[in-house]
Amino acid sequence: MVNAMDILIRPDIFDGQVKAFFTGKSLGADRDKISKVLSIDKDDIYLPLQKHSDIVWLLNADRTPVTADAVITQAKGILIGVQVADCVPALLHDKKNSVVGAVHAGWRGTSLQIMKKTILFLVEQFDSDPHDINVAFGPSIRGNCYAVGTEVKDAVLKATGPGDYVIPRDGKFCMDLSSANMLQALSAGIPLKNIWRSHECTFCNPRDFHSYRYHKDYAGRQGGFIGIF
Ligand SMILES: [Zn+2]
Repeated sequence: MVNAMDILIRPDIFDGQVKAFFTGKSLGADRDKISKVLSIDKDDIYLPLQKHSDIVWLLNADRTPVTADAVITQAKGILIGVQVADCVPALLHDKKNSVVGAVHAGWRGTSLQIMKKTILFLVEQFDSDPHDINVAFGPSIRGNCYAVGTEVKDAVLKATGPGDYVIPRDGKFCMDLSSANMLQALSAGIPLKNIWRSHECTFCNPRDFHSYRYHKDYAGRQGGFIGIF
């Protein structure tokens, strides 16, 4: 059995300015456990109230949890995160302006272009240049494991445009939301070389990850976290 540190996935695209990682089952999205393992005060770990929306929240001094599916901050010493169990967790860092972001994108969020809107938020609010932004996509349910109905497929397709993330299968469809969100990031101007992606599929690895489709109602949550320290 791996220990908690081994299951922290640290994308190598981020530099020393930020702490950035994805968790698996062992740490989950448990602020107490994460606080202990990373020696960060529990009060300095912020999770929004996720609603599969396209709401991007700019976190300043007030740390009251609000409804949002993306959080952005320039504040130092706070770890922001999102919780997932099959949905795509994404982390962003604008190196030049020192801004970080965490995004939760399920099919609804992807249909609402939450990834693209978060990047545009950085561009509008901080005058960010997409070439300065690094993006990491964490473990999620991947293509062949994620069968969807026509309505879901159409909604994501409309928001994202065509791509090989839609996989026809036996008259139905599978979809790779990680790839769809990567396409949204590319269309918002992020260069491919600035993008890191986990190859883990949560459904294929139910021992290491919570998977809503695998564990159903018993699924917990893991997370993606980033902060300027
Ligand atoms: Zn799989």
